[in-house]
Amino acid sequence: MLVVMDKAATPEMIQRVRDEIDRMGFSAQTLADPHRLAIGITGYNGGGSVDRLETLEGVREIIRFGDQYTLASRATKQEDTIVDIDGVEIGGETFPVLAGPCSVESRDQAMAIAEIVAEEGVRIFRGGAFKPRTSPYSFQGLGIKGLEILREVREQFNLRIITEAMDTETIDLVAETADIVQIGSRNMQNYSLLKKAGKLNKPVLLKRGMSATVNEFLLAAEYILAGGNSRVILCERGLRMVANRTGNMLDLSSIIEIKRLSHLPIIADPSHASEQRYKVAPLSRAALAVGAHGLLVEVHNEPEKALSDGPQALPPNEFKQLMVELRRLSVALNKELP
Ligand code: PEP
Ligand code: MN
Repeated sequence: MLVVMDKAATPEMIQRVRDEIDRMGFSAQTLADPHRLAIGITGYNGGGSVDRLETLEGVREIIRFGDQYTLASRATKQEDTIVDIDGVEIGGETFPVLAGPCSVESRDQAMAIAEIVAEEGVRIFRGGAFKPRTSPYSFQGLGIKGLEILREVREQFNLRIITEAMDTETIDLVAETADIVQIGSRNMQNYSLLKKAGKLNKPVLLKRGMSATVNEFLLAAEYILAGGNSRVILCERGLRMVANRTGNMLDLSSIIEIKRLSHLPIIADPSHASEQRYKVAPLSRAALAVGAHGLLVEVHNEPEKALSDGPQALPPNEFKQLMVELRRLSVALNKELP
């Protein structure tokens, strides 16, 4: 629900509405936007009546969203949200490339890859320490040791870190190291995890479930926003295509749609969307062309030895070439590649 205030509403009138919302047992979030001032109501369970808010001074109208996403909606906030990661912006007209290995495998591996990507202008390093793997017999990640290595990468190369939190038990631990906490595709509808992510004091990158609709995706983001964390970045990572010999399909059209429906930044992951490295560069160019706010790309110094997702990892020379292509294309598209 959204309480839209008159343009001329005074701070006292706004406070009065907020107090009233608190008194009713809901939480109020002021959403300042150059175009209008509104107060989002979350925690609303349909009980009680919010009708009387309409009679308060300075209130223009109440918009009821029912079960729809509210805080994630463009109707609530018209301006694009730009998430600042310690000086690196995601959203707006820039096109940051977040790159690194699927998993942190060792100190040497992480350092070698960090050096390669940093040299290409990458400022946010990806690498999983806690890995959600399809098979229980596959490499599960280095866990806490992996986080330690990521902290070293940040120190040594001045890179910001994005790494995945898999469960409610370890999310706070992961958030101590991460500059962006990733919630993976498999966890997009893990509502207890989303609620905890809403309480973090760190930006969250939420990946789209591999068979989630755009509506379900935005409602999952809504959980994080409703918890009070406004720094949410969305990531389209491909949908599961059964009976298709190539695992996933990058839903480029959802990027266009999400930019229309929501103010949140949306980046693309061409690596998990294709599972094969020869598709990564063309899909990256396509993502830039349709207006994605950045990329999440897997890079490995020795892909043939990778402990996870080797077939989709770009070796150093291909990653370099991709960055050259993206820089060229970004000029034509008026996007800024940091
Ligand atoms: C990953 O980023 O390494 C990952 C596991 O991605 P997804 O959740 O999209 O499968
Ligand atoms: Mn991976």
